[in-house]
Amino acid sequence: MRNYIRWPRLFIIISEYELTADHAIVDRINTFRNMRTYENTRAIRFEGERTLTGVTVRKKASDEKTSIPMLGVFISIGMQPNSSLVTKLVELNHKREIVIRPDCSTTYRGLFAAGDVTNVFGKRIVIASGEGAKAAMAVRKYLLEKRESVSKQHINKTYTAKLSEAGRNEEKN
Ligand SMILES: Cc1cc2nc3c(=O)[nH]c(=O)nc-3n(C[C@H](O)[C@H](O)[C@H](O)COP(=O)(O)OP(=O)(O)OC[C@H]3O[C@@H](n4cnc5c(N)ncnc54)[C@H](O)[C@@H]3O)c2cc1C
Repeated sequence: MRNYIRWPRLFIIISEYELTADHAIVDRINTFRNMRTYENTRAIRFEGERTLTGVTVRKKASDEKTSIPMLGVFISIGMQPNSSLVTKLVELNHKREIVIRPDCSTTYRGLFAAGDVTNVFGKRIVIASGEGAKAAMAVRKYLLEKRESVSKQHINKTYTAKLSEAGRNEEKN
């Protein structure tokens, strides 16, 4: 039991060479005594009959395998932008991110996008929030301009109709 308590309780297995989170977070994680990080390592097998008892990992570019006793696993493999909803409407880049202009507008007129799903640099909460605010401002501007152009069109139509009605009346007289 004493040995068990001394074991790390949380294992991070990553296939990258090192943790890619913010340095401040990595530094903090490295101070946790109950955590162990396996870098440049792949999880290759979940062990256990009815429930999980461990995970077999293999160091990349080697045949060295280790079995780590484990009671639970959280799987997080990369990030894929969920842009399928607008695939046929807007331009996407090779990562399937929605390509946006500085005002968050897309290649489809009237459709705006913000946050991780776009090609903006930096997948962070503060950036996504700021981009969301920017998109909201751009949407407002777009709607105001649209309303203005619709009412101008309406005025033009009414004016033209009145002019031609007046012309017809003159011809009659
Ligand atoms: C494990 C992890 C740790 C992170 N840690 C940090 C951190 O420490 N600091 C930091 O700043 N950032 C961190 N991030 C990044 C941060 O979470 C994102 O940058 C931020 O959440 C992006 O916000 P968003 O609104 O663009 O997207 P999301 O927060 O992903 O929100 C998108 C929403 O849209 C919904 N959705 C998707 N498709 C559809 C659809 N078709 N119809 C309806 N709804 C849909 C989703 O369900 C989701 O709720 C982390 C991300 C991950 C995955």
